[in-house]
Formats: sequence, structure tokens, C-alpha cells
Amino acid sequence: MLFKTHIVFSLAVYFLLSYFIEMPWYVLIFVLLATAFVDIDIKNSRAGNRWYLRPFQIFTKHRGMLHSLFIGLLLSLVIASISQWAGVGFFVGYISHLFLDCLTRSGVALFWPFSWKIKGFVKSGGIMEQVVFVLLLLGDIFVVGKWFFYYLV
Ligand SMILES: [Zn+2]
Repeated sequence: MLFKTHIVFSLAVYFLLSYFIEMPWYVLIFVLLATAFVDIDIKNSRAGNRWYLRPFQIFTKHRGMLHSLFIGLLLSLVIASISQWAGVGFFVGYISHLFLDCLTRSGVALFWPFSWKIKGFVKSGGIMEQVVFVLLLLGDIFVVGKWFFYYLV
């Protein structure tokens, strides 16, 4: 899935969760951070396109260990040891990324180190993803607009 789709989806997940659970504002930062972080294992992604990530990318493959529940949980627990809400936000962002990638044809080895992949039927960057992106974007804009008028106007 494309960077932009991950961002609008994780925003929507955050909005949905924050409707039911009261959480600090900075949780959103960690949600977005995590959803962008997962794709640093590929050099032509928006997040992974940094020279200083090249040495790291030699040791990882795209949709390898970083695209796994194990690493997501591990990193979230490390962050949660510093701030619980930050860890929750990071986990939510991580899971939202993995969920979307599981819907794609290339799939994700969610239970790495086991190589079994969960796959869907969506083509990354294809028409279905574009439609989902637009719908999620409109949903996010609606929520932000509603919030804006409720609190500021
Ligand atoms: Zn990914």
C-alpha cells in the first residue's frame, strides 16, 4: 500500500478509537510515526528513502521482519516502558499498517519468523486502493471539520 493510504487509514483508526477511548493528543503522533516507520525496510518508500537507512536495509527485506506482529509488539513495549500512551499509539499505528498490507496481493508474513503469508486481493497503488484512499480522506476531513466547528466556531 502507498504511504498516503497508510496515513489516511491510521488517522481514521485513531479517530475511531478516540471516539470510544479518551486519550492524550500525542497518541496521534505515535500512530502516524509507527505507520510510516514500518516501510523503512524498502528504499523506494516515502519513509525508507533516506541515505542513512541504506546500511539497515541491507539486513532487512521488504515486508520481512518489520512487517510482523512480533517486532511491532516488541517496539511498542519498549516505547510503552517510557510512556504507556505513546506505546499504545505506536502499536495502533503499526497494526493499522500491517492490516492494510495484509489486504494486498503480495501479502505480509505477519507471524515472522514463520514465512507463511496473509494475502488479499488488492493491488498496491491500483484503482481499488485509490478509491479506498479517497473515501478515507473524505472521512478524515469530515471528522476534522466536525471537530473544528465543535471546538473553535
Ligand atoms: Zn508496508
